[in-house]
Amino acid sequence: MLVNMNEILRYAEEKGCCVGAFDTPNLEILMAVLRAAEKRNEPVIIQHAQLHEPEMPIRIIGPIMVHMAKESSVPVCAMLDHGEDMDYVRTALELGFSAVMIDGSSKPYDENVSLTREAVALAKEYGASVEAEIGIVTGHEGKEFYIEEPGAAYTDPELAARFVKDTGIDALAASVGTVHGFYATKPKLDFERIEKIKELTGLPLVMHGGSGISVEDTQRAIRCGIRKINYFSYMSNAGVRAVKELLAEKDVKYFHDLAGAAVDGMEKDVLSAMGMFALE
Ligand SMILES: [Zn+2]
Repeated sequence: MLVNMNEILRYAEEKGCCVGAFDTPNLEILMAVLRAAEKRNEPVIIQHAQLHEPEMPIRIIGPIMVHMAKESSVPVCAMLDHGEDMDYVRTALELGFSAVMIDGSSKPYDENVSLTREAVALAKEYGASVEAEIGIVTGHEGKEFYIEEPGAAYTDPELAARFVKDTGIDALAASVGTVHGFYATKPKLDFERIEKIKELTGLPLVMHGGSGISVEDTQRAIRCGIRKINYFSYMSNAGVRAVKELLAEKDVKYFHDLAGAAVDGMEKDVLSAMGMFALE
C-alpha cells in the first residue's frame, strides 16, 4: 500500500530502527527492492532522484513506482530524491508520489529556507511529506569521491534546529560524514553530531550515502537517531556482479536472463541492508 514518509518514519521511531530508502531508476531495481521488503514484511521507501532524469524520466518510472507501491503487501512510500526545483517537485506530486526531498543544501541559508518552505506548502496540498537537507553530502552516485576537508560540509546542529523551525519539514537530511557513491577514503561518521542534531531538532534524521559504511557504524548511527538511510551504490553494484557471474558461467542468449540475475543479486543485497537497518 502507498503511504507517506511520516507513517514509515513513525514505524522506525517506534521500533528505534531505521528504514531503507532505495533509488529505483529502472524496473529491475524496483522489483528487487519491493520483493525484499515483502519477504521481510517491512515498510520501505522507493525513490526517484532528479539526477537520474536523463537515463529514466520520472514521467515513465513515476507512475510505475506509484502503481507498484499501491499493489504491494507492505507499506511503501514513493518519494522524490534530491528534488532541485519546484517544477520537478510539482511533477512528482502530480504523479502521486507520497513524499519529496527538496535539496537546497548547496544554496545560501535563506534561499534554502525559502525553496524548502515552498516545497512544504505544495506537498501539504497533496498530503505528502517533505525531507530537506542542510550541510552538504558531497559526491554523486557512480563517482568516487575524495574527502579533502571532511569538517567543511558537516551539518551545524544549531543551524539545523533553526532550519527545521523556519521550514516545517518532516525529516532532516544531515551531513555527518558520509558521501554519495563509492568511498575512496574510509568514511568517518560523527556520532556526537548526530545525537546533537537529533536532540536539537527532535526530527527523524536521514543519512545519505549509506553504501560502504560498516555494519557497526551504520547501527551506531541508527542508535543515535538516524531513521532513514538512503542506500543505492552497493545495491546497484550487486546487480552488476550477478550479471558478470552469470556471463562467466554460461553463454547467455537472452537479455531477460541477465535482467533476472541482476534482480536476484540486488534483492539479496537489499535483504542484507534491510537486516542491518533493522539492527539485526
Ligand atoms: Zn542523497
